[in-house]
Amino acid sequence: MKICIIGGGITGLSAGYKLSKSGHQVSIFESGSFLGGQASTIKIEDFEIEKAYHHLFATDKSILNLYKELGINNELNWYKSSVATYSEGKIWKTTSPLDLLKLSLIPFKERVNLFFISIKLKMMKNWKKIENETAFDWLSKRVKNKTFEIIFKPLLEGKFGRYYNKIPMPWFWSKIQTRVSSRNYKLQEVLCYPEKSFSNLIQTLEKEITNNGGEIFLNTKVTEIKKKSNEIESINIIDRDDNVTNIKFDIVISTVPYNILGKLISLNSSLSKDMNEVEYMSAIVMILVLEKKVSDFYWLSIADNSFPFLGLIEHTNLIPKKFYSNRNILYITNYVEKENPLLELNYEELLEKYLPFIKKINNSFDKKWIKDFRFSKINYAQPIFPLNYSEKIIPLKLPVRGLYSGNTAQIYPEDRGTNYSVDIANKIITLIESDYKK
Ligand SMILES: Cc1cc2nc3c(=O)[nH]c(=O)nc-3n(C[C@H](O)[C@H](O)[C@H](O)COP(=O)(O)OP(=O)(O)OC[C@H]3O[C@@H](n4cnc5c(N)ncnc54)[C@H](O)[C@@H]3O)c2cc1C
Repeated sequence: MKICIIGGGITGLSAGYKLSKSGHQVSIFESGSFLGGQASTIKIEDFEIEKAYHHLFATDKSILNLYKELGINNELNWYKSSVATYSEGKIWKTTSPLDLLKLSLIPFKERVNLFFISIKLKMMKNWKKIENETAFDWLSKRVKNKTFEIIFKPLLEGKFGRYYNKIPMPWFWSKIQTRVSSRNYKLQEVLCYPEKSFSNLIQTLEKEITNNGGEIFLNTKVTEIKKKSNEIESINIIDRDDNVTNIKFDIVISTVPYNILGKLISLNSSLSKDMNEVEYMSAIVMILVLEKKVSDFYWLSIADNSFPFLGLIEHTNLIPKKFYSNRNILYITNYVEKENPLLELNYEELLEKYLPFIKKINNSFDKKWIKDFRFSKINYAQPIFPLNYSEKIIPLKLPVRGLYSGNTAQIYPEDRGTNYSVDIANKIITLIESDYKK
């Protein structure tokens, strides 16, 4: 069958790989000039690295299996992670449950309470019970005052901006599940990262697709999906020279966010309404290549609203520096609403805003430490779901014969991630096999 895939991110590439392997004629159209979407990498000096920090968890079975199937799982390494929180002018180690119990930032009784709440969430299996409550309400009712004010409120505000009190509780529940499941028998969190970054996965998928006879078109945007008698007929594409072409297909798999898909094809009004209920935050991610490290931790969450960023992710506190010309790699991360003025700033302007706050983390930090930098703004980085989303979630198979859609807004209650992109691609393939079986 002739299959069109819209989007060359991990969902599109993994679907393209498996479908082309089963003998389908696959064409992937990617509007950008590179593959990998949100997981894409860039070259700095002589190494490749993700534009936005990426790691995998022990629970990420679908992507770990894909690595195995492609024969590149020998490049997957596991590293001990280290986590801390910046609050009240200090860095507090929050790597293990024991660190939480020792966290003198909050009264001892509250620490014990927090410990039991995390156990309760870990043991909870039916997340639908908490689906009609926001994380803000659920936590503020159960976590003691100081813990909530010092830790959770600033974290929710920092991560979700004006949506801070609207995030469904299953998001927080799933975070606890993933993080606890990534701990080894010593309760140490271990994270996975491929030796040559995610670029080898992306390149291997690309190679496999083309070897299987598939085609990949970069700088080519799908502008319309045409249907006839409620069945997929063709798509319109526009290339970088503004040439518009119409191509016939039997099946279209969209991997783009719903607001983009909604503009490509008209669907029934109740479906369009549900699609529009999902909002998105953008990410602003700065990579600094540094002479020295800023902190001793891989993941430093900022629980202080005066900061203009949400966290420092020190990649080389997880992965050895030898892979990065012995430099220190620091990501400064931010999630913002799409109208946030920070999105208008260029690298220099943003760095000027960030510098005094990096100095708060490490007083000896000096701009001269910066040897190189990269800077990305990523749209549709974090979907924001309404309450009781499981009742509204859009199915992977849409009510036009031959049309399927898999995107980050279908990942719920888990937080979106490359593993779920592979998983969604697998599920779409199973649907196609069953819908078109001879
Ligand atoms: C800051 C940040 C940190 C993250 N950290 C992690 C992590 O640690 N671990 C992890 O596993 N995941 C992480 N993720 C999530 C992960 O990167 C994404 O969930 C995953 O890559 C999404 O893949 P996708 O293919 O579904 O979507 P995308 O990557 O968004 O791909 C969709 C593609 O469609 C293209 N497109 C859009 N419109 C059109 C059109 N009209 N025609 C043609 N092409 C079009 C886009 O250019 C894009 O390339 C992170 C994401 C961000 C933003």
